[in-house]
Amino acid sequence: MTANILFSARPALWPIYEPLLRRGLDDAGLDYCLSTDIAPADVDYVVYAPNSGLMDFTPFTRLKAVLSLWAGVETIATNETLTAPLARMVDHGLTQGMTEWVVGHVLRYHLGMDRHITVQDGVWTPDAPPLATQRHVCVLGMGTLGEASARALAALGFHVTGWSRTPKTVPGVICQHGAKGLRTALSSTEIVILLLPDTTETENTLNADTLSLLPRGARIINPGRGPLIDDDALLQALNSGQVGHATLDVFRVEPLPPDHPYWAHPNVTVTPHIASETRPATAAQVICDNIRRGETGAPFVHLVDRALGY
Ligand code: NAP
Repeated sequence: MTANILFSARPALWPIYEPLLRRGLDDAGLDYCLSTDIAPADVDYVVYAPNSGLMDFTPFTRLKAVLSLWAGVETIATNETLTAPLARMVDHGLTQGMTEWVVGHVLRYHLGMDRHITVQDGVWTPDAPPLATQRHVCVLGMGTLGEASARALAALGFHVTGWSRTPKTVPGVICQHGAKGLRTALSSTEIVILLLPDTTETENTLNADTLSLLPRGARIINPGRGPLIDDDALLQALNSGQVGHATLDVFRVEPLPPDHPYWAHPNVTVTPHIASETRPATAAQVICDNIRRGETGAPFVHLVDRALGY
């Protein structure tokens, strides 16, 4: 049987992904039709990004799976018209990019780089930074991206705590979970990295209460999703000095509106959702592997738990 594969993402991605997907599907020995235009009732797989505009899956009556090009699936995980399995993107290239971004921004804070890069005021202050072994950092979310970042930070010598929903064991990382574990993790951390998914459970993970647990002057790095932070509470904590600085890559509204207080705040760095992205060369292999699995009766990998929302 021919597997009909609909590519439903930004049109600009089609010329990039088409040859990569064809190569992977050919290598897998599959009989397939790959197109941006297949009648919904004939589609077996959708290679999907939410900004394609496809939101109603009702006419896709023989769908075997939706294969997301994005790691964050909050806009589709709750879509009630979708009953077929949904796989999120777990891509080595995306993980590597996120790890590099997180380590870079942690090192910026740890080494106090701004002091010497942006301030050249003629004042000679020969204070060497502490070693990573003296710095406590915490990664909220210990999934694909959080665990990779936590491991990389631990390899540099940082004192790393990771927090997740379920218990974990990760070499070199103190693992906490659940509501009590969050309070323990935050109470000693100087740099917090958010790599949680956006779900009803994770909204406002950092709020007035949890921000108050941090040691005064702690730094926040959010490459996860905007709703993980209560913005008003963070602005208040920044203004009072409870939070020393925040680096924010993701926001409740994107692009971040020009009049949003984050843009002008002296203790906020805004980056435009560029922490990492799906890398076509490696992501196409992941998509093709899941289609091969579907066509050979093997279980799909990277499936989203629709009840949990990630
Ligand atoms: P993932 O593998 O699904 O991991 C999610 C982690 O969050 C897991 O460790 C999970 O715990 C934990 N978690 C979920 N709900 C929780 C809760 N209620 N309490 C405590 N922990 C909870 O996701 P991922 O691939 O690492 O991606 C994480 C997020 O990064 C994505 O959802 C997306 O929003 C974001 N992202 C951003 C960019 C960017 O450029 N800024 C790029 C890609 C992804 P368990 O392990 O116990 O299940």
